[in-house]
Amino acid sequence: MTLRISRSVSALALAAALALPAAAPVLAQEAVPQNDLMNATVWMETSVEYKATVMQLYKMAQAQLDAALADSAWTAVPDKQGEGYEDLPVAIISDLDETMLDNGNYQASLVVRGTSYSSSEWADYVESQTSGAVPGAVDFANYADGKGVKVFYVSNRKEPGKEATIANMEALGFPMGGNVDTVLLRGGKEEWGSAKENRIAHVAENYRVVLLMGDNFGDFSDAADGSLEERDAALEAAMDHFGHDWIVFPNPEYGSWESATFGGDWSLSGDARRRMKIDAMEAWTPAQ
Ligand SMILES: [Mg+2]
Repeated sequence: MTLRISRSVSALALAAALALPAAAPVLAQEAVPQNDLMNATVWMETSVEYKATVMQLYKMAQAQLDAALADSAWTAVPDKQGEGYEDLPVAIISDLDETMLDNGNYQASLVVRGTSYSSSEWADYVESQTSGAVPGAVDFANYADGKGVKVFYVSNRKEPGKEATIANMEALGFPMGGNVDTVLLRGGKEEWGSAKENRIAHVAENYRVVLLMGDNFGDFSDAADGSLEERDAALEAAMDHFGHDWIVFPNPEYGSWESATFGGDWSLSGDARRRMKIDAMEAWTPAQ
């Protein structure tokens, strides 16, 4: 410690003598381009705050699952359960990407290469089977499975990527439903588009669905595609669910929250979308 202090003292003296700042920053040799995705990806990939957030959500999910198992009237989708649902076997419905699967290496790749999402490259990524697990997800899914609860994965990954997705998840240790098809992807049936409520209703025909989990409002409600005001109203109407039988995970990288700021119009230029995002915020003006 003494040595380290005396070294830093002499470094300070040297810096002062050379009229340099005491802690000269490491200067980038080349300009580093700005990237709208960078901070969100760094946060999800490196921060203990992200890990703690999702692990506490999975702890909460386990507690809510225990409560749901003790209460046969409990359902996360009262509008989708038929008569006698109390007697059905119990299921959970979870989204995959950024809820149970961590695709941080894909997002990081976009940042590093200065590019943006493309559906064909995403399909290649899915085939690479290199997704990780969100912290807490594998333990939670296995806890549910161990209680005899069927875990359905309702994801907007596309049907052609199903085999790779299942192989990736098996390697990570997720329970895959035994002889029941629990991976319900976009296009798995003709009527299964990106809106998820009909897939949720499909599961609710044969199961008492006790939890919905996702990082996107669309994992819970088809109202996700509305305007900012419509989304706020839909949230208001659903607030009894959140923290009870709907559990939402953080995803500052992408989602319907982003497209809602520019009316879902991805044909707009990047600058136009960025302007609309900035305009969507309420900014404080300092006194002159
Ligand atoms: Mg997701």
